[in-house]
Amino acid sequence: MRRMRILIANDDGYLAPGLAALVKACEGLGQVDVIAPEQNASGTSNALTLNRPLSVFESSQMPGRTVRVVNGTPSDCVHVALTGLLPHRPDLVLSGINNGANMGDDTLYSGTVAAAMEGYLFGIPAIAFSQVEKGWAHLEAAAAAARAIVDDALASIPSGPWLLNVNLPNRPDVAALPRVITRLGRRHASEPVIRQLSPRGDTLYWIGPAGDAREAGEGTDFHATAAGRVSITPLQVDLTDHASRERWVGGLRGRLS
Ligand code: MN
Repeated sequence: MRRMRILIANDDGYLAPGLAALVKACEGLGQVDVIAPEQNASGTSNALTLNRPLSVFESSQMPGRTVRVVNGTPSDCVHVALTGLLPHRPDLVLSGINNGANMGDDTLYSGTVAAAMEGYLFGIPAIAFSQVEKGWAHLEAAAAAARAIVDDALASIPSGPWLLNVNLPNRPDVAALPRVITRLGRRHASEPVIRQLSPRGDTLYWIGPAGDAREAGEGTDFHATAAGRVSITPLQVDLTDHASRERWVGGLRGRLS
């Protein structure tokens, strides 16, 4: 059997400790390629850079390994890798480990989830990993937990594209915590925008922090991590509101072709 090929990306940028930890944890799993944004690109969702060309340089800051660095978004990184930069098609795309949770509505804004999703959109199984709290506490333990999930997913899931969103509590025993298959919760709307006066007298606006969990009941990602469990949410990309399609067909009767 040929060696497994894994592509690892993130959204916190190529210098982020979470990327190095995930890469290290995947040692021995196969051929690992790493590609990451030059700058922190958290919150850039699935954006692709279409108004300028992208540059790729090779960084040797990760010992014994070449990291490809792209002056673009997380989706740019994976897209460029899959459409010509890599000489082969990876078997798996991993993203993270992110500095902070990606649960509920976060997943729509997340560059971490988007990098994995880009692989999934190309038909490749993919997993996004995030630590629930910012600050990298117990990062090595999180990386060990991520590796165990990769091993188990590859061993037990049939082939074909799938996309998992994993949130890991910042605990030293995270690799031993129970895992729960969850659904996305919901957040309250973001906190109010923060105004600031620039040195030149202009009013600046900072997007406020994400809101607290609003739908955090049993079965959600918020509930699982708050209860000290590892949350694993299988994601899909189809945004169609299937449940309301029939209502719209009825409501717009006569005005539909
Ligand atoms: Mn991030």
